[in-house]
Amino acid sequence: MAYQLEKETAISAVMKAAKLCQQVRKDIPPALEKQDKSPVTVADFGSQAIICKVLKEVFPDTPIVGEEDSKELRQETSQDTIKKITTYVQEIIPSAKVDQVLDWIDYGNGTVSHRFWTLDPIDGTKGFLRQDQYAVALALIEDREVKLGILGCPALTLDNGDTGFIFVAVKGEGSYKMSLSGGDITKLQVVSNDDISRFRFVESVEANHGDQIQQNAIAKKVGITTDSVRVDSQAKYGIVAAGEAALYLRLPSPKYPNYRENIWDHAAGAIVVEEAGGKVTDMYGKPLDFATASKMNDNRGVVVSNGLIHDSVIQALNN
Ligand code: AMP
Ligand code: MG
Repeated sequence: MAYQLEKETAISAVMKAAKLCQQVRKDIPPALEKQDKSPVTVADFGSQAIICKVLKEVFPDTPIVGEEDSKELRQETSQDTIKKITTYVQEIIPSAKVDQVLDWIDYGNGTVSHRFWTLDPIDGTKGFLRQDQYAVALALIEDREVKLGILGCPALTLDNGDTGFIFVAVKGEGSYKMSLSGGDITKLQVVSNDDISRFRFVESVEANHGDQIQQNAIAKKVGITTDSVRVDSQAKYGIVAAGEAALYLRLPSPKYPNYRENIWDHAAGAIVVEEAGGKVTDMYGKPLDFATASKMNDNRGVVVSNGLIHDSVIQALNN
């Protein structure tokens, strides 16, 4: 089995971070949910600190390209925030000190190289605040390919009724899901075109993160007859990999035509779907480039499918 130590370490790191996120979310006073962004900050930084600490202990030489850094936290005005973050981290790593937590966060400021991790400590921050979906996303990229992807989705409920999953994929070895509370490991397979009730499509909750008018039109063109399922974060990739949707469309928002996608927003999800038999490209059918920079400068939009309908989707998009 390839990448065994990487896989075990990454799963353990993501599970610990997921615990921290769940704890922060439990403590959000309902009145604060809408305006106050601080719970997001605390959970983002805490999750990144834990994951980077765990990864660096085992793989000191593998850079981590993460979304957050500690610059703001090191300012005088952020003392309360960093103390709060440290208190949450201590629930998982009791010996953690403020200075260490700041340093662990900055382990995530590595650069893209021949082998590196990419991390979104909380993907779907808006969903996290709304008490909707979010994901902890971690991927290992080596020789320009995603080799390992882990997606922690603590709030996701799948068709079997369980809530809280971790998706794991290793290149060439398939995609699996496990319940965050333990239990069976299930191999994943994308949905076929004739499973009518699951032949549907997912898109973002946030209208500005895509082009919902075009996304719905394209879905219709390829034979999807039901309304979209709107979900925050890379949980959408988990849903496609688990065979609970055939398509995830993320077309450039007309409001932000120059937006470029971040590698940490897609790398883990992409391998989870591909190893379940699906396909992931940009809107022109080009493979996503996770290995040149932290932004995918040469890709536009993202198309994630069960594979079978991929060519029709790309065709519909380009004529
Ligand atoms: P989602 O929950 O799928 O809507 O995706 C959340 C991610 O959207 C965040 O991690 C942001 O990095 C990303 N994002 C922010 N602005 C945009 C935009 N204009 N277009 C696409 N993605 C965006
Ligand atoms: Mg994100």
